[in-house]
Amino acid sequence: MSDPVNTVLGFLLVSEEEGRMDLRQLQSHCYDLAIMKGWGSEMTVPEMCALLHSEVSEALEAYRDGLPINFNGDAAKEKPEGIASEFADILIRLCHYCGVLGIDLEVATLQKLRYNVTRPHRHGGKKC
Ligand SMILES: [Mg+2]
Repeated sequence: MSDPVNTVLGFLLVSEEEGRMDLRQLQSHCYDLAIMKGWGSEMTVPEMCALLHSEVSEALEAYRDGLPINFNGDAAKEKPEGIASEFADILIRLCHYCGVLGIDLEVATLQKLRYNVTRPHRHGGKKC
């Protein structure tokens, strides 16, 4: 059995080298890493929604602070920051939670995109 940390690191290296990512693998690795780091699998859907929203709020705060879209933080601090980083946090948390709930995010996303293709312009006239 392989070491889960090395499995995740190997996935990250290959993804960065190839410049692409498989959503199903990403979901699996985000879930594994979250569990390894002590983030639970005993969560309620309302807790998940609140924590996803906290990342959305962090993205809004980064915007309010005037950070450029692709600001990736202070290299000396090593922690990526800014809107891109917070959007990444949203995806990472979403992948974790989909793993907890047994949702195949790739399948759900493709199903939703397939449906969205059939919808009218601005979904029938919505303002935003
Ligand atoms: Mg964040």
